[in-house]
Amino acid sequence: MTSTIERASDLVQGLYREGAAIADTKAPEVPLRDRWEQRKFAARLVNPANRRKMHIIVVGTGLAGASAAATLGEAGYNVSAFFYQDSARRAHSIAAQGGINAAKNYKNDNDSVYRLFYDTVKGGDYRSRESNVYRLAEVSANIIDQAVAQGVPFAREYGGLLDNRSFGGVQVSRTFYARGQTGQQLLLGAYQALERQVAAGTVTTHSRHEMLELVVVDGRARGIIVRDMVTGAIETHLADVVVLGTGGYGNVFYLSTNAMGSNVTATWRAHRKGAYFGNPCYTQIHPTCIPVAGDYQSKLTLMSESLRNDGRIWVPKKKGDDRDPRQIPEDERDYYLERRYPAFGNLVPRDIASRAAKQVCDEGYGVGPKVEGVSRGVYLDFGDAIARLGRPAVSAKYGNLFDMYERITGENPYEVPMRIYPAVHYTMGGLWVDYDLQSSIPGLYVAGEANFSDHGANRLGASALMQGLSDGYFVLPNTINDYLADGPFEKIASDHPAVVEAVASVRQRVNHFLTNNGSRSVDSFHRELGQIMWEYCGMERSEEGLKFAIGRIRELRAEFWRDVKVLGTNEELNQALERAGRVADFLELGELMCIDALHRRESCGGHFRAESQTEDGEALRHDDEFAYVAAWEYAGADEAPVLHKEALVYENIELKQRSYK
Ligand SMILES: Cc1cc2nc3c(=O)[nH]c(=O)nc-3n(C[C@H](O)[C@H](O)[C@H](O)COP(=O)(O)OP(=O)(O)OC[C@H]3O[C@@H](n4cnc5c(N)ncnc54)[C@H](O)[C@@H]3O)c2cc1C
Repeated sequence: MTSTIERASDLVQGLYREGAAIADTKAPEVPLRDRWEQRKFAARLVNPANRRKMHIIVVGTGLAGASAAATLGEAGYNVSAFFYQDSARRAHSIAAQGGINAAKNYKNDNDSVYRLFYDTVKGGDYRSRESNVYRLAEVSANIIDQAVAQGVPFAREYGGLLDNRSFGGVQVSRTFYARGQTGQQLLLGAYQALERQVAAGTVTTHSRHEMLELVVVDGRARGIIVRDMVTGAIETHLADVVVLGTGGYGNVFYLSTNAMGSNVTATWRAHRKGAYFGNPCYTQIHPTCIPVAGDYQSKLTLMSESLRNDGRIWVPKKKGDDRDPRQIPEDERDYYLERRYPAFGNLVPRDIASRAAKQVCDEGYGVGPKVEGVSRGVYLDFGDAIARLGRPAVSAKYGNLFDMYERITGENPYEVPMRIYPAVHYTMGGLWVDYDLQSSIPGLYVAGEANFSDHGANRLGASALMQGLSDGYFVLPNTINDYLADGPFEKIASDHPAVVEAVASVRQRVNHFLTNNGSRSVDSFHRELGQIMWEYCGMERSEEGLKFAIGRIRELRAEFWRDVKVLGTNEELNQALERAGRVADFLELGELMCIDALHRRESCGGHFRAESQTEDGEALRHDDEFAYVAAWEYAGADEAPVLHKEALVYENIELKQRSYK
C-alpha cells in the first residue's frame, strides 16, 4: 500500500483552527438494537391539547420537509411550511428516479435490518454513525407501509407483492420502485398528506418564499426571514422551533444532476448563525449521467443507477477505437467493472464506478466526442438484456429513462449502447445534527439531504429517499417533542434586536446586488466557481490542487462582490437577484469544502485524495487519524473556520478496507 500523505498538520496551517471535540449525546447508551426504542421512550412528550400552542416552521417541502410538516400537523402542532417553488409538489425530490431501499426481505435473499445497516456503513466507507444508520435501517420498512397506505403505486411482481431490484454496493434486491419515477410518486404521497393538513388547518403553506436568514435569540432558533419572490416583500416569521429540509448543495459545482434551483442558502445562513457544517467535502459523483455536451450547458441529466441491474458497462480494448459500438466484437470489449470487481460487477457503489470510468477515460479508452483531447464517455449496453428478456420487458422497467435518453442525445438506446459519464449528484455533507436531528443551535432541526447524518463518505443508491422520509415521517415527530416539552417559549417581538439585525442584513444584501452595477453576470461567476470545484475538489483531490482552488475562490469571491451585475428590481419576480444570493453563499461554501478536503489527508468514499491510494488505485483510509466527523464552526467572514471533531465509534462493525472484489 502506498501513502505519500504527510501527517504533519502544518500542511493546512492558517486555513482553520481546531476547537473542542464534540459528541452526540442523544443516542442512549444501550445496545444498538434498543437505542431507538429507548430514545422514543425517554423523549419527553407534549400533551395533545398543548400542541396547537406550539408553532413549528418547516422550510422545504421535498420528501423530508413535506413528510415532517404533514406528520407534525397531524400530531396537532401549528405548522408553517415554506418553499421557493410555486407548488410544494415541485421540490427537487420529484426528480428521483430509481427507487427507495427497505429491509423487507420480500425476495427472501437473506436481507435484514442488520444487513441494510451493514451495507450502508460499509458503503459510506466507515465514516457514518452506527446509531443513526441502524435506526434508518429499522425504520425503512415502516416507510414502505406508509407509502403503500397512501396509494404510492410501487411496481409489483406477478403474485401481487411489491417488486424489488438491486442498487449499487449490495448483493440483495431491496429497492422498491415506481418505474423510473419513484421520487415523484413518493412526493405525491407526501404532498397529499401535507394538503390534508392544510385543509384541516394545522399547516399553512407559503409558496415562492425564500428563506434568507435564520433568527437566533438567546442561542435558540426562533424564526426565519424570507423574501416573497413575487412581490419582493421581506417578511419575518417567528416560531418555537425551526426545521430545515432544504436539500443538498451539489449545484456549487454549477453542472450537476440537481434541479436548477437547488442551493445552499438556508443551511449556509444557519451555519453563519452558529450551526456546524458536517463533512462539507463529501460529495457524490454519480457514474451514470449523460456526458457534458458543450460549454453552454447548465444542467446534467442522470440515467438512473437502476439501469446497472441490466446494462453492462464497457469500453473498447483498443485506445481511440471509434468504430460504431455494434461493430466491436465481444473479445475486443473491456467490461472493466465485471473484470475488476467480479463479486459486485456493474453494481459496485457509485464512488468506485465513477472513479473507474474516469480512470479508463484518462487512459485513453473513453468513447464519444473529445473534450480537450479526451473522450469522456463509457458504454452502458442493454444488448444482452434485450436478447435475454426481450424489448418489452426492458421497456416496462426502464422505458421512460430510455425515452429521456433518446430525447436528449438523439440516439436510440434499444439499438445503440448509451454513453454515460460521472457527474455531481448528491452531497453527503450538510448541517451537523445529533441523534435527534437537532443542529448545534438548540431549536434548529435538520432533515433529509440538508443534514450530514447517515451516509458517511458515500451514499448508496436509493437511500436518500429512505433517509428523507425516515427523518420526516418517523424520526423528527418522535424527537422534536423532547425540545418542545419546554415550550411554548416566550414570544419574540418583531423589533427584537436579533430580528432587526436579520432583516437589515437581508435588505442590505438585496440592495447591494441591485445597485452594484458591475460588469459580470451572476451565472458567469457561478460557472467559473463550478469549474474550479470540479477540477480541484471533484472526483480526485490533491493538496496542490486544493490549495490553488482556495486561493482562486477567494479571488473570485472578492471579484463577485465588486463586479456582479444584477438587472431588474426587488419588487418583481427576479431570478437574477435570487441567483445572486445563492451564488454568494456557494462562493463561501466552496472554500469550506476545499478546506475540509485539504485537511482530510486520507481517501474515503467519494473523497479521493490522489496522495492516499492503495497500489491498485482504491481509496486508502487512515482510521487512526480520520475516523471522525468534521463539524465546522463559522468564525466570521475573514476568520479561519473552527474544526470540531466527533469521534466515530464502531462497536458493532469492524473497520475494514472496503472490498467489492
Ligand atoms: C436526478 C436525481 C435522481 C435521484 N434519484 C434518487 C433515487 O432514485 N433514490 C434515492 O434515494 N435518491 C435519489 N436522488 C437523491 C434524492 O432525490 C434527494 O437526495 C432527495 O430527494 C432530497 O430530498 P430533500 O427533501 O432533502 O430535499 P429537496 O427535495 O431538494 O427539497 C428541498 C426543499 O427545500 C426548499 N428550499 C430550499 N432552500 C430554500 C430556501 N432558502 N427557502 C425556502 N425553501 C427552500 C425547496 O423549495 C424544496 O421544497 C436523486 C437525485 C437526483 C438529482
